[in-house]
Amino acid sequence: MSKSKFIFVTGGVASSLGKGIIASSLGNLFQFRGYKTTILKLDPYLNVDPGTLNPYEHGECYVTNDGAEADLDLGHYERFLNLPTSQLNNITTGSIYQSVIEKERRGDFLGKTVQVIPHITDEIKERILLLESKENYQIIIIEIGGTVGDIESLPYIEALRQMKFERKNDVAVVHLTLLPFLASSGEVKTKPTQHSVKTLLQSGVQPDIIVCRSEYSIDEKIKNKIALFCNVDFDCVIESINVETIYEVPLLMMEQKLDLVVSNKIGIKPLNDLDNNLWIKRLERLKNPQKTIQIGLVGKYVELKDSYISICESLIHAGAFLEVKIVIKWLHSEKLESTNLEQSFKNCDGVIVAPGFGDRGINGKIKAVQYVRENNIPFFGICLGMQVAVIEFARNVCGYLDAHSKEMNSKTMHPVIDLMESQKKIKNIGGTMRLGRYNCELIKKSLAYDAYQVSSIDERHRHRYEFNNKYKDVFSEKGMLFTGLNKKLNLVEIIELENHPWFLGVQFHPEYKSTFINPHPLFINFIKACLTIRL
Ligand code: GLN
Repeated sequence: MSKSKFIFVTGGVASSLGKGIIASSLGNLFQFRGYKTTILKLDPYLNVDPGTLNPYEHGECYVTNDGAEADLDLGHYERFLNLPTSQLNNITTGSIYQSVIEKERRGDFLGKTVQVIPHITDEIKERILLLESKENYQIIIIEIGGTVGDIESLPYIEALRQMKFERKNDVAVVHLTLLPFLASSGEVKTKPTQHSVKTLLQSGVQPDIIVCRSEYSIDEKIKNKIALFCNVDFDCVIESINVETIYEVPLLMMEQKLDLVVSNKIGIKPLNDLDNNLWIKRLERLKNPQKTIQIGLVGKYVELKDSYISICESLIHAGAFLEVKIVIKWLHSEKLESTNLEQSFKNCDGVIVAPGFGDRGINGKIKAVQYVRENNIPFFGICLGMQVAVIEFARNVCGYLDAHSKEMNSKTMHPVIDLMESQKKIKNIGGTMRLGRYNCELIKKSLAYDAYQVSSIDERHRHRYEFNNKYKDVFSEKGMLFTGLNKKLNLVEIIELENHPWFLGVQFHPEYKSTFINPHPLFINFIKACLTIRL
């Protein structure tokens, strides 16, 4: 197979139906059948990337190896496919327009009127096709954000229509809809699905497969009805009922032969028998845990759990690996006070202080670190969480009472966390942090080395501030260990503490690299520590 095959995933009836999980599950099945597979997200908003978005808007900002700030769905793609994505895997309307307008300014369109069709749609298609020409993927799954009928996603739907016309045998469309259940009549209703397919048809797109989200299993009669009214084959109506865990969805899709039905539409045969035994075993462990522990997660966006989705999933991966059920106790950093610390951390076997930006909730995070440090509770600080551990140590162990990060207090006498040199001249905030993969060398006698079992690692970053090396000697004398360093840039990447059972802070984001099949070693060892040091 020289050319790529393209599978578009669209959504109808309601948002948040889990297009990302269906796309990931389908990708997972093709991947396990031996196809080189990737998934691409088309986002309809005008931001050039989600890096400038508040997490309350769209949840976490995910980061790829090559430093793209991307939609959180890319995290699902990596976690399900066990393969890294790159900046080619996320397109936003903002980035499409930016590039078309730059071309117009350069004079590339030779006096033509620049229009949505063909210029914007051509740009969308070109970007999709880069994954074919540059990366040689055999299967490219394209998730279109939003719901059909949205004004914003129309250019994407039009690009899809054109691709289906131009590459007739290479394109399939999977449409995900919702079948609401009406309790009063005890029925599952298909009308909203019919309408959403009509909306797609108005844009010239006939879906090939309909995946129906439903609380209840749907019978043959309903499937027949959907097939007839939506113009798809009976075996192309697939149900997606609610399941305990998202990692079960690939198996649910496999049982209904979603991958085979799609393969038929694009004229390919499975390369191999499905080899997903490890996945199934891991899932069994996830569903049959031997123990339960509780982890306190301290953050300031806890009202929207998607803000910390990669951390939550990393805990699930480590839990499945260790056969432990991990219950997250959400702790709002703005609400943590000296008076309620004991109550808040009661029954927490370990505590994570989450990444973040800005001043809000910072004092609660500092108090949290002090409490876990003094009470020997396993601690895992991620990015801002590590920086906060440094501030707490400076204040309460070294006696620098006003110590702070320059991000929160630019006038502090003790800027133990300072702006990186490379950041000082930067004016635009979009896409200018220290982003993506960097190397880190580990000290052999350390918790970090115990976890990774190698001395050179690379991890993904997203920050502007860093540990201020001027304080290294004083901190070392007082018992802080600098166990991971980026030697090239002379940056502290990992801190630990002497005289504490498990206290580790990382400047990077290990959660971006954890997958269901390959749980992250730091999360595994953190959970192991929580299990052994239980109070
Ligand atoms: N705000 C901090 C910085 O920019 C930490 C960022 C983060 O937690 N991702 O350095």
